[in-house]
Amino acid sequence: MKAMVLNAPKTPLVWTEMADREPGPGQIRVKVLACGVCRTDLHVYDGELPDPKSPIIPGHEIVGRIDAMGVGVTDLKLGERVGIPWLGHTCGVCPYCKAQRENLCDAPLFTGYTRDGGFATATVADARFAFPLVEKKGGGEADDDASLAPLLCAGLIGWRSLKIAGEGKKIGLYGFGAAGHIVAQVAKWQGREVFAFTRPGDTGTQDFARSLGVAWAGGSDEAAPELLDAAIIYATVGALVPTALKAVRKGGRVICAGIHMSDIPSFPYRILWEERSLLSVANLTREDGLEFLSQVPKMGIRVKTTTYPLQKANEALADLRAGKFDGAAVLVS
Ligand SMILES: [Zn+2]
Ligand SMILES: [Zn+2]
Repeated sequence: MKAMVLNAPKTPLVWTEMADREPGPGQIRVKVLACGVCRTDLHVYDGELPDPKSPIIPGHEIVGRIDAMGVGVTDLKLGERVGIPWLGHTCGVCPYCKAQRENLCDAPLFTGYTRDGGFATATVADARFAFPLVEKKGGGEADDDASLAPLLCAGLIGWRSLKIAGEGKKIGLYGFGAAGHIVAQVAKWQGREVFAFTRPGDTGTQDFARSLGVAWAGGSDEAAPELLDAAIIYATVGALVPTALKAVRKGGRVICAGIHMSDIPSFPYRILWEERSLLSVANLTREDGLEFLSQVPKMGIRVKTTTYPLQKANEALADLRAGKFDGAAVLVS
């Protein structure tokens, strides 16, 4: 197999040939068909997350086809297409696992962070954490490998953040990249109105948001035309927290959906008061994944992708950092 390997933080990923890996008990090996590039990969690259595996093969939005199985895998079969997400393993016995909150497991493994991921021609995963991706007859929109890949993190975390945002009709999204553009379409499908906030002056992304049917798009330095029921922050900018609190109504919620954020500046208590709440979203549960992926075919989501050959992973990461494309970057081998 070959992979783009991060040997040390902030050094370019290196194209590396290595021995094929054999799946252990309960594991599958997949030939990687596509792997999305997520903001979290930049945090791994920059060394901003604690205790990574090193060297590490990043990538946690993997669409692959099973080409080998270890003993004890019963629910999947050879040749089946599967998605491998960020949550790679949980302990099953800690208080969080026992309380159906495995996203908060005390001893988890995360794909592309604490276990090797999908910036590779093949990867090995725990079968219980892989999602079957059944091919629709005739394929079509959002069924090709590259379009499915971003759903496995941007889509899944987006889904979880939207659930935690509650039932409100008017939803603000701060940051309109991979997650934002998927969540906007999901929220619209649910009958909500979406207000998209981009980097100030980024009229290109605002136009992109409008093309997906949002009710309003503007810079994060602008006020929405009306008070919001909830706001979800995908951008990694802590200063957006007080901004979003000011944008939501009494009793409204602000959800921080990223894994890492710059420091939140101090803010006057009155913008939190009146039962506004501030929450974060961490990881996903398998239940989130099954729930979301089973409904995707009904949603008519158009995932905007920019594809790069696997060997151009460094370029994809740099372009993501620079905000060079709308939607999501996907590596294809
Ligand atoms: Zn656990
Ligand atoms: Zn991710």
